[in-house]
Amino acid sequence: MKWLSGLPIRLVNRAYSPSNENMKKIAIIGSTGSIGRQALEVIGAHRDKLKVVALAAGKNSLDELAQQINVFAPDIVSVPNGQAAGDLRALLNNTKIKLDILVGEEGLEAVATHSESNLLLTAIVGFAGVKPTLAAIKKGKTIALANKETLVAAGSIIMSLVKEKGTKIIPVDSEHSAIHQCLSGYAISDIRHLWLTGSGGPFRTWNQKQIDNATVKDALQHPNWSMGKKITVDSATLMNKGLEIIEARWLFDFDPRKIKVVIQPQQILHSAVEFCDGSIIGQFGLPDMKLPIHYALFYPHRAEFADGPRLNLCELNSLTFETPDYDRFPCLKIAQEVAKEDSTAACVLNSANEIIVEAFLQERIRFKDIPVSLMRVLDKHNRVASPDLEDILEADLWARDEAAAILKAMV
Ligand code: NAD
Ligand code: MG
Repeated sequence: MKWLSGLPIRLVNRAYSPSNENMKKIAIIGSTGSIGRQALEVIGAHRDKLKVVALAAGKNSLDELAQQINVFAPDIVSVPNGQAAGDLRALLNNTKIKLDILVGEEGLEAVATHSESNLLLTAIVGFAGVKPTLAAIKKGKTIALANKETLVAAGSIIMSLVKEKGTKIIPVDSEHSAIHQCLSGYAISDIRHLWLTGSGGPFRTWNQKQIDNATVKDALQHPNWSMGKKITVDSATLMNKGLEIIEARWLFDFDPRKIKVVIQPQQILHSAVEFCDGSIIGQFGLPDMKLPIHYALFYPHRAEFADGPRLNLCELNSLTFETPDYDRFPCLKIAQEVAKEDSTAACVLNSANEIIVEAFLQERIRFKDIPVSLMRVLDKHNRVASPDLEDILEADLWARDEAAAILKAMV
């Protein structure tokens, strides 16, 4: 602080001035979703340190993408197809912003690998994240990873490429962000268990009969988080926690049998690390995804978050913990078993789950059909051990077809 005429004048921090190379230049795939939007809020609050250079979004969100373009002026954007590109151009008709509008898988990859960016935020949902994430790692980009499905489906391929290219994945998923923070300075060999916390979802206190009859509306009513529909249904089945075990396994190169799940309904403890000496370190905060997003965007630095969510420990009444109920939530057990394998089973679990959840959201199947149909797909799958990318791409297509056929036979 420098004093002039008795008034404090804040000096501009040159290390973070926009023209300086320390400015983070960010590409986002999935910018119009729950994570993408919150990331842009964080970036908007730190425009002297963070800059958006490329955006990609899916269908049905062009109005929002146009608004984002007007506010953040990226160099390039990508949309799913030519029709969407034309519609976007029309929406931007009156603006003077110069940008390239790209389309399809190639456009998505161009955004992920944009030469101006040094960080890619993967906020896209599902297996669609695999190829652009791989392309970005090949170009040496740091990845802020929200798109857990990419690590679930192709964890070993992604992590070995990260190693080869000497780049990093910074988790955005709140549990993995918590563990990343708790691990700071420790070796994996110091750890006895990773503890993933979960809210328990909207059906935590429901009995089996109530769960069996749960509607789409019931499943979309998450007690703590406002998220995209797919992950919200995964949170209701507890598949989300199962996918997170697989995500953690690859991200931290950790024995999946030593990854534990505990239900923490208040969602204040975001996850914890138990060390070999018995000590447990946890990360606490309000249940707000802007916190792990902020952490990932600024890593390895900590930055002030003036209007960010703040937890006052004196106002906490209680923190409670429960063992997950595998009988009422069989998807967690199914994923926990698959997590032990290094095979195409995780990709099949993930891709089949995407199809099955979509069918539930369209009210073509009941909530209780989700684990049943998943098990049927997995039972029919001929695993390939230590899969390469081709095996994964093949398993993805197979799982989608198989899940669709099983669902068709069910209804
Ligand atoms: P969402 O459905 O709200 O948003 C998905 C975004 O991806 C949208 O912008 C959509 O337009 C875009 N998209 C979808 N398919 C696309 C395609 N083929 N090409 C280009 N863009 C495409 O989802 P979300 O809740 O933001 O979740 C995103 C990812 O983050 C998921 O993998 C989810 O598991 C993970 N995640 C989300 C949360 C959360 O709080 N929402 C928390 C932890 C992890
Ligand atoms: Mg999570």
